[in-house]
Formats: sequence, C-alpha cells, structure tokens
Amino acid sequence: SEAFEISEKNKVPVMMRVVTRLAHSRAVVRPFDVPLHVKQANLLKANKLEWMLLPALARKNYEKMIEKQELFQKWSNSNKWNTLQMSKNKSDFAIITSGLGKNYYLENIKDYAEYLKALSPSQELPSHLHIVTLPLPLGKIQELTQNVQTLLIIEEGMPVIEKQLKGLLPQKITVLGKLSGHLPRTGELNPDFVRKALSLEERKSITSNPDIAKLTTDLPGRPPQLCRGCPHADSYSSLNKAVSVLKEKAGDDNVVIMSDIGCYALGALSPYNAIESIVCMGASLGMARGAAQVGVKYAFGVIGDSTFLHSGIQNLVDAVSTKTPMTAIILDNSIVAMTGCQETIVPSNKLESLVVGLGVEPEHVRVLSTFPNKIEENTKILLEEAEYRGVSVILLVRECVESLRIKNKAKK
Ligand code: SF4
Repeated sequence: SEAFEISEKNKVPVMMRVVTRLAHSRAVVRPFDVPLHVKQANLLKANKLEWMLLPALARKNYEKMIEKQELFQKWSNSNKWNTLQMSKNKSDFAIITSGLGKNYYLENIKDYAEYLKALSPSQELPSHLHIVTLPLPLGKIQELTQNVQTLLIIEEGMPVIEKQLKGLLPQKITVLGKLSGHLPRTGELNPDFVRKALSLEERKSITSNPDIAKLTTDLPGRPPQLCRGCPHADSYSSLNKAVSVLKEKAGDDNVVIMSDIGCYALGALSPYNAIESIVCMGASLGMARGAAQVGVKYAFGVIGDSTFLHSGIQNLVDAVSTKTPMTAIILDNSIVAMTGCQETIVPSNKLESLVVGLGVEPEHVRVLSTFPNKIEENTKILLEEAEYRGVSVILLVRECVESLRIKNKAKK
C-alpha cells in the first residue's frame, strides 16, 4: 500500500526490485483497503497530457521527473525502512545490507561479535546501514562512512548498491562485495558466504564430515524428466526420427531445432536430446526464422501452445510475411502445464484457424494427434513439411497427463 501511496502522491510509477529469495517465497497475501484517493483516480478526469508521450510532451514530463529527484532523495533519506545503527566505537569498517543480505548478516552476528571481542575486548559490532529504497539514501550513507575506510556490501542478486556506491564514495574508501570478489558474483547468496566475507570460520555442518560429503556427492544425478505418458515424449520421438533422416540427407549444419520455455524444454535432456536452443518465451520461432534466412535448409521452431499464444504469434507472422522456409511445431497439450495447469488463453480447438488466419497456407497447417502408435506416421508428415519452402505449422495434439489427472481427481 505504501508503494501505491508514493506513486499517487508523486505521480510516478513505483517498481519493486524482486530478487532471488523473494521471487521464490510464498506467503499469505493480505489485501489492503484501497485508499480513497486511489479509488477516486479517474483517468478520464486526469490531465490527459501526462499520459501522452508525444515528443513535445515527453520532454516536459522528463523535466518534471528530473525536478522530482531531490524530493525522492529526501524521501529515501528519511524512509523508516532504511535503518542506520552507528557503532559506539569509531571503527573504520562498516556494513551495508540490502534485502535478505540483512538476515544472513544477522544469522552470523553472534559469532561475529564474539570474533571481534576475541580480537580486542573493546571491539563492538561495526556500524550497519540496511537499505530498502532506491534512490540510495545518500545522507545516511554519508553518516555511515564518515570515518570508514572499508565498507562491506551484502546484497542479493546483481551488485546494484555496490556499483552505485563505487561512483559515489571517495576513492579512499575500499568497497568490498561482489565486484571485489569478497562475495560470489554468481549463484545464490547464503549465510555461509556472508560468514566468509566477515572473516569467520566455516560453520561445521553435517556435510563437513568427509564421509558424509562423499555420500552426497556420489549420489546419482536426478535430472527433471517429462512425466510418464507425456505427449511431448511421443512428439520428440517423431521429431528425432525426422531430424536424423534430414541430417543424413543434408548434413548436420543444415538442420536446426530451436525451442522454447515450457515442460517441453526437457526435450533438451536425455533420452531425447532433441532441441538446440532455449532462450526466452517465444524465441524458438524467431530463431528458426533467422536460421532459415541465413541458409539453414531445415529449420524447426518447437513451441508449446501456451508459449505460442503468449509471444510466439508475432514471430510466426514475421515468418509468413517473409515467406521463410521453416517448420513451426506447436506442441499442443491444451493447458499451461508448467505453471500448474491453468487454462490457455485461446482454446486448443481454435489454434488451427488462428494459424491459418495469420497467413499460413491451410494445406501446410497439419493437425496431428501424438501417441506412441502415431510416431511413424507423424515422422513422415514432419519430413513432408520440412521440404516445403514456405512456412508450415504442425500442431501435435494430446492433452497433458497431469492436467487429465487433476480433472479426474476433481470428478471423484
Ligand atoms: S505436466 Fe504435462 S506437459 Fe508437463 S511433463 Fe507432465 S505430462 Fe508433460
């Protein structure tokens, strides 16, 4: 609700920087009462010029935004969530935390206090500033760093604060963090990394025992797999058979299979090893189109029905308009499986007419059911369409077994 308040008051969008652990957390969401002035916000009554980014208006809006920076700085400095605890003894070392970095620091704080006392009985914990807001609270940072020579920044994700501070603080202050290598720049931050950055000894854990560590490292890997009976498995079997024929005929470099985000991304793993790229939602068709346009003879884009509806359509339109010789394979499991079996935004039975409506020649839109006993038949059709020197779309259709299981359970 505070974000809404700030946004309404200052007429700016407020963005949340969502980092690793927050993005992977679950919690009860408590809706708040929408403040009266937000309820009353009415676009029709608002100053419409604020919503039009025509060049002359955009320039004025930008000037207003620059004028507001001082206000934002004051807001950040006095924000109650940015907490500064100054140490009584004037240490030349201080700590800045952000997000979960604070929790990881606090997890180690007892050991850290003991460690400092062992170094010198009068030694207290260093000054600590916890930062929640951007722009950074410069006044509080100045207060923190008055007598400081070394500053440790503990933050999750990208070193956003560390980078900014390097440009803001005097050079005589050494900034430690992810850029300096005192905390790892890759992977997830955890209390043990923070411990190391605080010069504390490694914590004894069950895996510190070499025998137990060996047991855990010797365990066989269990990569994720498609569910048993998943329709994508049969689709990949057909595709692999077709691809091996095409590679035999035209050489490995003349066949490419671009894929996308969804359960079917598991086709990258054994036993299928069927796809060669997974980049972002909708990229498969655009990348297949690019490959075809630079001369790859058989370019396949493999995309799920939901991903196609989310952001694949535009790439198919582009491929049609440029008459690109490529084959789009839409794996239609009739559900958004990977995120928990939500309904797709367009029902499965409308996909064929949608694709034809986008300009794909109707005779090159093939709707096939995908089952173990259809693998050979579907392979032949894939081979036929791969030879077509335009855009073909093959819909391989069968409902996700997990979705069926959920539906059957609900019926009982
Ligand atoms: S959830 Fe559905 S689509 Fe995903 S792997 Fe399982 S059966 Fe296949």
